Amino acid sequence: MSFATRFAPSPTGFLHLGHAFSALTASDAAREAGGRFLLRIEDIDQGRARPEFEAAIFEDLAWLGLAWEEPVRRQSEHMGAYQAALQSLIDRNLVYRCFRTRREVADAIASAPHGEAGDVFVGEALPPEDEAARLQAGESYAWRLSQKKARAALGPAYFALVFQDENGPVRAQPEKHGDVVLARKDFPTSYHLASVWDDALAGITHVIRGEDLRESAHLHVLLQKLLELPTPAYRHHRLILDETGKRLAKRDEAATLRRLRENGKTPEDVRGMLGLPLTEARTGRQG
Ligand code: GLU
Repeated sequence: MSFATRFAPSPTGFLHLGHAFSALTASDAAREAGGRFLLRIEDIDQGRARPEFEAAIFEDLAWLGLAWEEPVRRQSEHMGAYQAALQSLIDRNLVYRCFRTRREVADAIASAPHGEAGDVFVGEALPPEDEAARLQAGESYAWRLSQKKARAALGPAYFALVFQDENGPVRAQPEKHGDVVLARKDFPTSYHLASVWDDALAGITHVIRGEDLRESAHLHVLLQKLLELPTPAYRHHRLILDETGKRLAKRDEAATLRRLRENGKTPEDVRGMLGLPLTEARTGRQG
């Protein structure tokens, strides 16, 4: 299978050096492998996503010299697909409705028997008549993945989930995530579900993203198994830090690509700042 990777930003702010590092690392890897590089707009959080940030993503990435395949997938346009994926989990009783508030979830975690589930939530469906009453009352809820049901459905395969990362094979430990929220009453998907679905749909063979998402792979591998999707290889790259050693965030305005550009930096300067091989060096090496 030919190499395919992607950069999947959320249009909730301007891209900064950290995003540039992710995008360039993925794009360089695709180029080196003679593979594909895709861009995906992860805008399911319509409360925070803004069109001007999306426009800026295209502009900033083009300025960096990146080229991606068209069409670009915009997740907000595919809610039906995520809903269908969720429905297949509902049909197999692998998810349950959780009516607890954030507070109640935190309390449940705090009072769980020591060591049972670490600091993650583990619960179960309400008895049908209680659930019916709450639905009747119009209460809101989250769809949570039941680790217990997943374990029962997969049997020994649950404990044999493996993925490759930059260090070799890793045994997935999805239970570390507890019963994660996969969707909400009025909202058919979470990042996890949409991202796993879209990576498979696009034929992504290598998910290249920051160290901060290393743990997510453990859950994503389980979702892939349950949804009968292939598991790609994972590569996690270091995070770009500010001068105080903290990970760059949206508030670090000075590190945004637009600000750097305004200040006269070139795309090659950005590569240099990130410790990436310069374009000339790369083309020289290749030919
Ligand atoms: N939208 C996610 C982010 O901006 C990307 C997650 C991923 O690459 O899977 O952090």
